[in-house]
Amino acid sequence: MTAPGKPLEFRDHSKPVLPPGGILLETIASEVCGTDVHLHDGHLDSVPWPIIPGHVSCGRVVEVSGHPRDPFGDEIKAGDVVTFYDVYGQCGSCYSCLVAKQETRCPHRRVYGITTTATDGLLGGWSTHIELRPGVRTLKLRNGASVEDFMGGGCGLPTGFSAVERGGVVFGDSVVVQGAGPVGQSAAIFARLCGAGRVLMIGGPKDRIEAARARGIDEAIDIGEMRDPGERRRWVLDQTQGRGADLVIEATGNPAAVREALEFVRDGGRVVVVGQYTDAGDIGLSPHRHINRKHVTLLGSWGYEFRHLYLSLGGLERTRERFDWAGFVTREYRLDQAEAALGDMRNQSVLKALIRP
Ligand SMILES: [Zn+2]
Ligand SMILES: [Zn+2]
Repeated sequence: MTAPGKPLEFRDHSKPVLPPGGILLETIASEVCGTDVHLHDGHLDSVPWPIIPGHVSCGRVVEVSGHPRDPFGDEIKAGDVVTFYDVYGQCGSCYSCLVAKQETRCPHRRVYGITTTATDGLLGGWSTHIELRPGVRTLKLRNGASVEDFMGGGCGLPTGFSAVERGGVVFGDSVVVQGAGPVGQSAAIFARLCGAGRVLMIGGPKDRIEAARARGIDEAIDIGEMRDPGERRRWVLDQTQGRGADLVIEATGNPAAVREALEFVRDGGRVVVVGQYTDAGDIGLSPHRHINRKHVTLLGSWGYEFRHLYLSLGGLERTRERFDWAGFVTREYRLDQAEAALGDMRNQSVLKALIRP
C-alpha cells in the first residue's frame, strides 16, 4: 500500500538477513480488518508509506537465527505454527512505560503493518513472508487451535478482551455491546466468559447479528431495523428492568454511539470506548445528564497489551468449539485479490476477511 487511495502494488523484496534472535515466517494467513480500510482511506496520521498491510497474522517458521524463544522460554523452531504480538519497540523508559504504566501509549511502540515501513523489511502480513525482529513476542498455536480459529478472532480477539477487562465485568453484570464487527463479537464472548449475566448487542448488518445469536448472545438487534435512537434506548431499558446496563462497550466507529452508550448505561455504571480508532468527528453531550449526575465511569481503550493477546488466545483455545471462532472467517483472498478484500471490508459484506498469500 503506497499511499491513501492508490492502487495496491506488488513488490519483490530480497530475502531478509536475520539478526540473532530473528525469525522468518512463511505467511499462512493475515487478516484484513477495519484498520486496513482506514489506512487506505487516509484516516490515519503519520503512516510511513509505503507499508505492507496486515498487522495480525499467522505463519510457519521457515528460518531462525540463534535460538529465539517465546516469552516464557519455549524455543521457537522451524516448522512451528505461530502468531505474534504485532506491537514491538515499547521503550520501557518513557513516562508512559515507566511511571503511568500505560504501555499502549508509549510513543516508541511500533505496529506491524501499520507504523512499519516496507522499506525497512517484511513487516506486514500481506506478503509471502514476514520477518520477526528480535524481541517480537511470538506464540505457538496450541491445544488444537488452528490458524482459522485464531484468525477468526483476529485483532478483534485481544481488542475485545481488553475492552471487557477494562470495563471490569463482574459476575451477573448486564453488558451492552454496540457494534457487531470482530471487536464487538469478541467483546460479547469474553463478557460472557468473564461472568456477565446478560449480554446484549446492537449492531449490524443482519448476518453479523445472526453470527452473534448463533454464539449464544442473549438478545441482539439489527440497527438497520431499529433506526430511532430513542427506540434503542427504550429497548435497553426494557432489557435491564428499567435501570440501564451495568457496562456498555462501544465498538462501532460511529461517534454518535458514544452518546447512546451514555444513555444506555445505568447510574454509576461503566462505558468503555474502544471503537473510535480514527477521528470521525465530535458529538454533543450533556455533561450534567450524561456524566456528572449519572455518576458514570467513562473509559477509553487504546490498543492492547501482550497479556491481552496471550490471555485471549488461551480463551480461544479453550472455547474454540463452543464459540466457533473459525466460523467468523467469511472469505479468503489471494494476495492479488487484496484490493477486493478491502472493498468487501469497507462495505461490510464480510465479517472477517483473510489474505492467504
Ligand atoms: Zn515507552
Ligand atoms: Zn486489525
